[in-house]
Amino acid sequence: MIIDLRSDTVTRPTPGMKEAMFSASIGDDVFGEDPTVNALEEKIAGMFGMEAAIFCPSGTMTNQIAIRLHTRIQTEVICHKNSHIYLYEGGGIMANSLASVKLLDGDLGKISAEQVQSSINPDDVHAPETTLVSLENTMNKGGGSIYRLDEVRPIRKVCNEYGLKLHLDGARFFNALVETEESSKDWGAQFDTISICLSKGLGCPVGSVLLGSKADIKRARKVRKVFGGGMRQAGFLSAAGIYALDHQVERLKEDHLRARALGKILEKLSVVSEVFPVATNIVIARLDGVSPAEFLSNLEAKGVRGVKFGPDLVRFVTHYDFGDDHLNEFEKVMAAF
Ligand SMILES: *Cc1c(COP(=O)(O)O)cnc(C)c1O
Repeated sequence: MIIDLRSDTVTRPTPGMKEAMFSASIGDDVFGEDPTVNALEEKIAGMFGMEAAIFCPSGTMTNQIAIRLHTRIQTEVICHKNSHIYLYEGGGIMANSLASVKLLDGDLGKISAEQVQSSINPDDVHAPETTLVSLENTMNKGGGSIYRLDEVRPIRKVCNEYGLKLHLDGARFFNALVETEESSKDWGAQFDTISICLSKGLGCPVGSVLLGSKADIKRARKVRKVFGGGMRQAGFLSAAGIYALDHQVERLKEDHLRARALGKILEKLSVVSEVFPVATNIVIARLDGVSPAEFLSNLEAKGVRGVKFGPDLVRFVTHYDFGDDHLNEFEKVMAAF
């Protein structure tokens, strides 16, 4: 039995999802004529009370399009130093938008309104103009930590005061929503743009969506084109997204329960000095006395996969294809470690 916990992107489409994909109505989406893409975009925009959405091949693309929309050359983005947009998108803030970035520190990958306010550059010839704040929810490097609406509203207020845009990298945003049961529309009201991955916990083979105003999403279509993300009969892929939104959101809670169990199992190991608080489906453990490479190759030999997540950190992510049988097997492998 292979237990692949490297990411929640490794899942295979369920039979129901495949059925939805095979039977999708399709057309050429670059001409705006794919009815299933249009239906997905309308559906998810509606869920968040936002005007429009655009379907893209990846979450990197939806984030990078948002950054392009909300910056110009010589402007600056504020985000946490462990943000995906900074660490894992190939330097795209610079490469795609010719913008600078100001990195903030903060517990479990989160930043506060006070920090944001004191990081906005003054109107000074030396400084790039701050135009955008980007938050990540759930926060990957924070161990799947969650922002609450109460933490975001004051940040929105600062953005309004200083004329800044606010973007949400919500790659795993539904993981946050099923835990907090906060209203998706209340969240939609706080942000200029929201990026959501369908290919993570929601279990789709491909795809992300960017939500925003009609005007921003119109511009986003041009940016997507130049990024090479205009797809043709993408309805096959969008159908998976619609299916996931209808059938595979609530079950994210099961991934969280199994992640908590997994965290407890890891805590018992003598080589684990700390497990980050498990808030959703991500478990990060700090190792002591063994390197991540050694720990992971030992587990790999027993069919369990995770990833290195820092000099002394490893990460495991639970997902649709990790059930109770896999959890029991994981426990056995760890007991024998
Ligand atoms: C996965 C992820 C993305 C997007 O990644 P893609 O692989 O390009 O779809 C963006 N932000 C976060 C926090 C992620 O975990």
